Amino acid sequence: MIMVDQHRFLRFAVAAVVINLGYALVHLAWLIMGEPAWAHGVSVFPGGWVPVLPAVIAVASIMIMILVPRAWRPAAVAAAAAGAALLAYSMLAWIGLLMLLMIPFGLPMPADDLARLVVRVAGAAGGGLTLLAAVARARASRPACPRCGGRHPDLRTRPPGWAVAGGWLAVAGFAARFAVELPDILTAGVSGPGGLGFQLFVALLVLAGTVLPLALIRPWGRAWPRWVPGLAGRRIPRLLVLVPGLVMAAGLLAYFGIGGIGALLTGHDSADPAAWLMIGGYTLWGLGLLLAAAGYARLTDSVAAGCVPVRAAVVPNRQNAGRGEPRPRSDRSKDHEQPHGPQAPSTAG
Ligand SMILES: [Zn+2]
Repeated sequence: MIMVDQHRFLRFAVAAVVINLGYALVHLAWLIMGEPAWAHGVSVFPGGWVPVLPAVIAVASIMIMILVPRAWRPAAVAAAAAGAALLAYSMLAWIGLLMLLMIPFGLPMPADDLARLVVRVAGAAGGGLTLLAAVARARASRPACPRCGGRHPDLRTRPPGWAVAGGWLAVAGFAARFAVELPDILTAGVSGPGGLGFQLFVALLVLAGTVLPLALIRPWGRAWPRWVPGLAGRRIPRLLVLVPGLVMAAGLLAYFGIGGIGALLTGHDSADPAAWLMIGGYTLWGLGLLLAAAGYARLTDSVAAGCVPVRAAVVPNRQNAGRGEPRPRSDRSKDHEQPHGPQAPSTAG
């Protein structure tokens, strides 16, 4: 493991350990001294030991990854499982975050709700960071790149096929979910609690079901399209696309994939076809976003590591406009996965 990758892993690892320790201690204190009244219903799952366990496993497996390099592989698997469990346990965090959006539009959040939201977000953040630490550790085990010595994946110019399939799966899931709502929207328009806030929320949701998954798999999600003044052709900061994709995927999968499907299967919610179309749509949307985001992360990883000469590879110069990454359709037949070319530096500005 070279220093750069160790640094990346350690950043996630330290943050995950701090948050998960705090999360475990708070729940342990509740276990010993009794849960405060406001904390009731902080999760749809039972309290007591249930939230302490994954947080402790997450901390322990991260410590093993740091202290016993030989045993990193099983430790990373345990960390990933514990991280996923924490995300599932904290699935109500996403609803709380959405309600934060509504506050400026006249839907205040009571102090108890806010306190529960803090606990849920801490659980989700600890779980997410634990997953990222496991992924970063696995990344550091890749063979070194012969070009830069870094540990990024193979240099690619196109997303892997499973990521493209994921992007379109997300759009299909979104379409299935909105198909249920469409008759109401056509007759009554978009209205809900919070007035303008709700309409803003629906607009964001539509973007997250169309623009976001496609940005994760299309060239215009990696370099600004040519009609964007001043930025055309420049690389888009990867976290600008990656973070919304991962956060949205985690929220949809935790809330609908686990919570929603679970409620349908256990008979908590009535399982009519419309409910399946809605919750199934949300779940596929989340799953597709996760695949597309993973492909995007792989595709842009080498760029983040500084291996691809960014300006040369992505920003076309005047004569070469359109021959760089975002290229016209007619040029795509010749498209294949090629390592970033030796031609790149010489053709740049
Ligand atoms: Zn490299």
